[in-house]
Amino acid sequence: MFAYWGRILRVNLSTGKISEEKFDEKFAQKWLGTRGFGIYYLLKEIDPTVDPFSPENKIIYATGPLTGTTAPTGGRYMVITKSPLTGYIAMANSGGFFGAELKFAGWDAIIVEGKADHPVYIYINDDQVEIRDASHLWGKLVSETEEKLREEVGDKRVRIASIGPAGENLVRFAAVMNDEHRAAGRGGVGAVMGSKNLKAIVVRGHKRVEVADRAKFTSVVKEKTDKLRNDPTAGGGLPKYGTAVLVNIINQNGLYPTRNFQDSQFEYAEEQSGEAMTAKYLIRNKPCYACPIGCGRVNKLPTVGVTEGPEYESIWALGAHLGINDLASIIEANHLIDDLGMDTISTGGTLATAMELFEKGLIKPEDLGEEAPPFRWGNTEVLHYYIEKIARREGFGDKLAEGGYRLAEMYNGTEYFMGVKKQELPAYDPRGAEGHGLGYATNNRGGCHIKQYMISPEILGYPYKMDPHDISDEKVKMVIIFQDLTALIDAAGLCLFTTFGLGADDYRDMLNAALGWDLTTEEYLKIGERIWNAERLFNLKAGLDPLKEDTLPKRLLEEPVKQGPNKGRVVRLKEMLPRYYALRGWTEDGRIPEEKLKELGLDEF
Ligand code: SF4
Repeated sequence: MFAYWGRILRVNLSTGKISEEKFDEKFAQKWLGTRGFGIYYLLKEIDPTVDPFSPENKIIYATGPLTGTTAPTGGRYMVITKSPLTGYIAMANSGGFFGAELKFAGWDAIIVEGKADHPVYIYINDDQVEIRDASHLWGKLVSETEEKLREEVGDKRVRIASIGPAGENLVRFAAVMNDEHRAAGRGGVGAVMGSKNLKAIVVRGHKRVEVADRAKFTSVVKEKTDKLRNDPTAGGGLPKYGTAVLVNIINQNGLYPTRNFQDSQFEYAEEQSGEAMTAKYLIRNKPCYACPIGCGRVNKLPTVGVTEGPEYESIWALGAHLGINDLASIIEANHLIDDLGMDTISTGGTLATAMELFEKGLIKPEDLGEEAPPFRWGNTEVLHYYIEKIARREGFGDKLAEGGYRLAEMYNGTEYFMGVKKQELPAYDPRGAEGHGLGYATNNRGGCHIKQYMISPEILGYPYKMDPHDISDEKVKMVIIFQDLTALIDAAGLCLFTTFGLGADDYRDMLNAALGWDLTTEEYLKIGERIWNAERLFNLKAGLDPLKEDTLPKRLLEEPVKQGPNKGRVVRLKEMLPRYYALRGWTEDGRIPEEKLKELGLDEF
């Protein structure tokens, strides 16, 4: 087998047992990698109704076949587990260098099970694997943890995935951080690590990933890399301004959610755009492993010094979503959230929920404690004060640490929670891109943009421009294609930004050259469809009620946009959802029939 080692590392933290398992090419062709491997093991080995924080939940760190190769952006890995935020599947993906290093160490994935009786970290140096004491690291920030671990193992070149205080304190949207600022952010995967007393995984590898035909692979990689370099977004906007290049574009199109989606354009967007950030704070770009795009930002501020980020989503979540205009405060807040180990989108989304609950008088000033700043739109004090409190679960921060949905529930205001399946929505108002809205509603991990980035066709024109308010079958089909294609790209171990420039055939070419397979594009997309359905199956077994939960917040379905290009619009989800179920081959109530399970080879579950 090429591009895989065929080896999975299993670490049981309850018993201390470390073992190795093998997989064969048949398994690889069925599940490909990352999300595919993760969902297979979760379906096989855990009860989907299990409490996400119990030792019975498992957490899987998986690479794809192209991870650690020279394929453009081939550095991704994925953390898969049952989410403490949604109660459904969590699959959070991250770049940086950790994924590639894990592959260099000779492992395709790590399955962590059980719970240690004291804080530990896992040290992997090729075949040498140890569970080591991490008591002295408990409570430390992500940056301190990485620094101390590098010193301790005596190797500056190790790569580290760790949690900060938020993960330790079971904040429901805690992230797994690697390379300090890269996050497997969504769904609270960091809190699951915390629940297992697992502070970090430290990896060093010395092996080279072998591909089937080196010369062919090199030439295919060159061709695809050139395509990316020549694309105006992948080779132009993203390297120049980072993902924040989107701020002005999305705002001008009237999709930039403002003050908890009460408006769809932010009056100060220009001042916190990628262009503004580049002019004021950027010192250089920082690409992830093997990435020719290099959207990562390194900024410098007098207050926090040199820091990385923020991404488009984070600028929005900590800015327009809260009515906050001060870019420096947003960058500082992003830095702090990374160091405490949280998801920026859910942090901002939870604070936005609190702000609206406060505005509507449901949260009262006396609920907050004496020194706490009031939740008023645009109040930067909120960022300075509550972020730390959330991570440490102190004062009102303890309630915020439960996430926006549970907070809104405590104050009888769930209609002010802007999320899907208890996960906070990202930075696009779907009333301005209705296919994107269908994507949010049907996403296996709840409110999330990247598992079907319909902004590409609806706003940016990739692979071709679609009317954002068309809700025909062609649009619904496109949502499904994007979901399956994204599952494929994730599973391969690549970054989704390669879709600016590459299409399904390009991924097929790279995979076939690396693996020595001869699969068609349709066969690869079938793997994506299998993964999507397997994740759906997990959610159904975990208790998902499709007709109630494949939905959007009432505001997006019933409150028309007040002004701007999408004035008067809502998302016509009711008209799209039945057609989505039918085109997926599901039942009218959103379940997967036996024939479909058989067709995809999922009937074993
Ligand atoms: S495009 Fe950006 S996020 Fe994706 S691999 Fe490159 S630097 Fe990392």
